[in-house]
Amino acid sequence: MSSNILNQFLSENLEDLRNKGLYNEIDPLESANGPIIKINRKELINLSSNNYLGLATNDTLKTIAKEAVDKYGVGAGAVRTINGTLQIHVELEETLAKFKHTEAAIAYQSGFNCNMAAISAVMDKNDAILSDELNHASIIDGCRLSKAKIIRFNHSDMDDLRAKAKEATESGQYNKVMVITDGVFSMDGDIAKLPEIVKIAEEFDLITYVDDAHGSGVLGKGAGTVKHFGLSDKVDFQIGTLSKAIGVVGGYVAGKQQLIDWLKVRSRPFLFSTSVTPADAAASKKAIEMLMESTALNEKLWENSEYLKAGLKKLGFNIGDSETPITPCIIGDEVKTQEFSKKLNEAGVYAKSIVFPTVPRGTGRVRNMPSAAHTKEMLDQALTIYEAVGKELEII
Ligand SMILES: *Cc1c(COP(=O)(O)O)cnc(C)c1O
Repeated sequence: MSSNILNQFLSENLEDLRNKGLYNEIDPLESANGPIIKINRKELINLSSNNYLGLATNDTLKTIAKEAVDKYGVGAGAVRTINGTLQIHVELEETLAKFKHTEAAIAYQSGFNCNMAAISAVMDKNDAILSDELNHASIIDGCRLSKAKIIRFNHSDMDDLRAKAKEATESGQYNKVMVITDGVFSMDGDIAKLPEIVKIAEEFDLITYVDDAHGSGVLGKGAGTVKHFGLSDKVDFQIGTLSKAIGVVGGYVAGKQQLIDWLKVRSRPFLFSTSVTPADAAASKKAIEMLMESTALNEKLWENSEYLKAGLKKLGFNIGDSETPITPCIIGDEVKTQEFSKKLNEAGVYAKSIVFPTVPRGTGRVRNMPSAAHTKEMLDQALTIYEAVGKELEII
């Protein structure tokens, strides 16, 4: 028998979401998540994936993954600390440390898990965390899990951060104070002001933590936001994902050997959840080696991003102030934003609408994620569709 209280809770809340048009219907892909995707037997130009470099469908990586399955099987068989550490996991971590120019690195099952793992391994109820108000949900949850006092600062507002860092450290209330930020903010595509954050951290002896999920593979010729600013030895925790530009799945923390040693004995997702599959580890390692050997995909990503941005801007769309390939088309009104995304879809472009509460009210947008795998023809076709739908809805 199922609980009546639960059933009532679920049906009331689901109905409420559906009535408000906030229930997210998922469209399964009938193809790989490449530059062209197939949904409901229809082909669409895909401007919604985080597969920045097109590596999710790369032939070399597919071969490497298959070879890893033949050698190691489909699963790792245990958590890392029992006997689920295969040689390929160690090789992946060594490669990650080289990629990030750090002493060591530790791999996790996802970027989300990194934040569950790393923050609470170091911070506790006697500590404080200064957190950018637009930080990713997994950072917010990771901070909560640590039980540290969370002090939010205004988005990329260095005066606010400085004042709050001063107050927190001078109060003598906390053993440790950490500052934590996304490297690249995923909704607007702006870059964290890391040189200033590092300076403030040095002044007040803050622990620095940068989650660079959207920066790795993208900025710093691929090595990420920290490298972009030349701060590799100034940031304590560099978090990355293997699920976006790297094209596979997983996450990692890169930093000093001592930090990684500690995470290997104290971070709970490492101790209590099975490691990524051999195929994931092998494909991720190879993808990172490819990024270190050649910047061609990275250059193609930027070329395509500039092309799409220039095209949308010329058509008269408000594309915000993005400094990265993330290209929002800001519409404002939530209902109109959703209608715009729907009409783009009908015309052959898959670009998701993002509205409150993911972004502030009145700043609804369709977010475009160009990749290295798009051709000029695909982008031109997308721009033609944008123009037609934009005019139809009187957005341009
Ligand atoms: C996407 C993202 C994550 C989650 O990464 P996954 O590997 O998909 O779990 C974590 N942090 C930030 C900042 C992200 O943008």
